[in-house]
Amino acid sequence: MLTRFAPRAENPEELREHQLKGLQWTVRHAWDNCRFYREAFQQAGVAPDDIKTLEDIRRLPFTTADDFRRGYPFPLRSVPHSEIVRIHASSGTTGKRKVVCYTSKDIDDWTEMFARCYEMAGLTREDRVQICVGYGVWTAGAGFQLACERFGALAIPSGPGNLEMQMTFLEDFGTTVLCCTASMALLVAQEVKKRGLKDRLKLKKIIAGSERTSAAMKAKIMELLGVEEYYDIPGMTELYGPGTGLSCRASENIHYWADFYILELLDPETLEPVAPGEVGEMVYTTLAKEGSPLVRYRSRDLTRLITEPCPCGCRLPRHAPILGRSDDMFIIRGVNVYPSEIDMILSACRGVGSEYQVLLERREDGKDYMRLKVERDENTAVEADAASAAWIYEQIRQEIMVTPEVEIVAYNELPRSERKTKRIFDNRGI
Ligand code: ZN
Repeated sequence: MLTRFAPRAENPEELREHQLKGLQWTVRHAWDNCRFYREAFQQAGVAPDDIKTLEDIRRLPFTTADDFRRGYPFPLRSVPHSEIVRIHASSGTTGKRKVVCYTSKDIDDWTEMFARCYEMAGLTREDRVQICVGYGVWTAGAGFQLACERFGALAIPSGPGNLEMQMTFLEDFGTTVLCCTASMALLVAQEVKKRGLKDRLKLKKIIAGSERTSAAMKAKIMELLGVEEYYDIPGMTELYGPGTGLSCRASENIHYWADFYILELLDPETLEPVAPGEVGEMVYTTLAKEGSPLVRYRSRDLTRLITEPCPCGCRLPRHAPILGRSDDMFIIRGVNVYPSEIDMILSACRGVGSEYQVLLERREDGKDYMRLKVERDENTAVEADAASAAWIYEQIRQEIMVTPEVEIVAYNELPRSERKTKRIFDNRGI
């Protein structure tokens, strides 16, 4: 069990008490030190003394990505500049980057949380951790690195890309743990396979972050590298960065560090809590963050809470892997559909690639229809299309409860984007 980086509170009662104290501290801190928050609280008619129970969190207003952009360059800053020791920023696909301010204590808390991930993944001081993620203004490199040092394992800061160097390091340094994105892990795995290196490596674990990954892709990575443990590490810049939770050996669900933040799951339309186990938007409130505290920050990410206790023994709460973003969810004939569900079905289908488009239409009969265009796999013949389409149709009908019209198109026919590819086209009007 977690001993070195143990939770500050673990049993449900203690955890609630700890969270209430942290919530009260955060609201007071934000009120006293951040004009943005004070004005938002005043507008909502709530003051620090009103927070008497955990349920009072619902009296607080929400914050959003727009508040980060509007407050640029130091949004939500709640300490004097002299106390900020570092900033990080999101990679910023649209508009201004979201900048996060860290005090020395924030860095310390983040490092502790992240070191807990290494402990949970069963690392020891003997482990050698190859960190092939981006070092720079974003949070990944610094997070993996500092926590590895705090934990006491050997950090190999190899950075992203550069497969040639990664191969050399894996072999020469006897790397036992690989930290990267899932796409990078796949590239590394394919290169290892190509070079026939697998048996010369000492790799045991993968800790992969910041990407939705299908079970098929994980299995492939593990097989090619000959590793038995694969952990998902969630990370959001606004909430410290990576390392705020980890999946465990028992399942792909994420234990999250509820002693550092409160996670609410809300219906994205009504903003009311969803029933336990239902899908909702992840809304974060930090309990100890000084530089840029979060109060009910709407992440737009969707998941559900796992209510059963985890067989691994860890008592910290869990959520499912992120299902997608509320911006991407669509409703057809009363069914909520998440693109991740379509991803999962397509990734299990032979004969097609990963590129697809969903077109939603309202036809003359007044009903809504879902058309799905999927690219044929590069190495598959046209003759296989009918079988692929029939398989996909049946899976979607059974799993998602929607009957799609499936069309297989030629490889490379659908547009690709270096940024996020648009896949959902809702042409139903209002
Ligand atoms: Zn567990």
